[in-house]
Amino acid sequence: MRLIIATSNEDKVREIDEILDGTGFKALSMKEAGFCPEIIEDGKTFEENALIKARAVHALTGSGDFVMADDSGLCIDALDGAPGIYSARFCGEDSTYPEKFAKIFSMLKDVPEDKRTARFVCAIAVVRPDGSDFTVRGECGGVLHEKPAGENGFGYDPIFYVPEFGMTTAQMPPEQKNSISHRGRALRKMVEQLLKEV
Ligand code: IMP
Repeated sequence: MRLIIATSNEDKVREIDEILDGTGFKALSMKEAGFCPEIIEDGKTFEENALIKARAVHALTGSGDFVMADDSGLCIDALDGAPGIYSARFCGEDSTYPEKFAKIFSMLKDVPEDKRTARFVCAIAVVRPDGSDFTVRGECGGVLHEKPAGENGFGYDPIFYVPEFGMTTAQMPPEQKNSISHRGRALRKMVEQLLKEV
């Protein structure tokens, strides 16, 4: 069975395909499936944005394919969940991550260190061939670390410290991050659900 991933990020597609190994599902990028839609993500939650993307691609398939999309971001408790769905655009589309980090810590300057908790959140939406859908969510808790550390990962990983492991997600090897990450957790929940259905 084909599972089209509503992303242009080929690395994400490969990562998902590895998780799907042996399940009977084969992950395909939009490009491999022959689609390249412009999608406006104007939802108010991670789940809404994931559904917008999955439905937009599903509308183009006209076939028996499953379509999945994800939406993720960093939610800081002391900032009422910001930057949340705006994580990529926080401080402006063109700002660098060091600029985003500086802005976050200036906003947290009066917040004591033990209250600088945060979560990475990932929502995944799957649209089935018949147009029905489901969503799952994965989360990973941590504490914001003012001094960036680590070279792995991307985005906010250098300031996302996971106390249980004593390191940031940018200091973890990819397999370790996948085993605890919001995306890894949401993907495993998605696979569990898909396997119940086929
Ligand atoms: P996307 O929805 O997966 O494209 O993620 C949106 C934004 O959230 C990214 O551009 C990053 O800023 C942030 N983000 C999501 N997941 C991660 C992660 O695993 N590490 C660091 N930053 C992340």
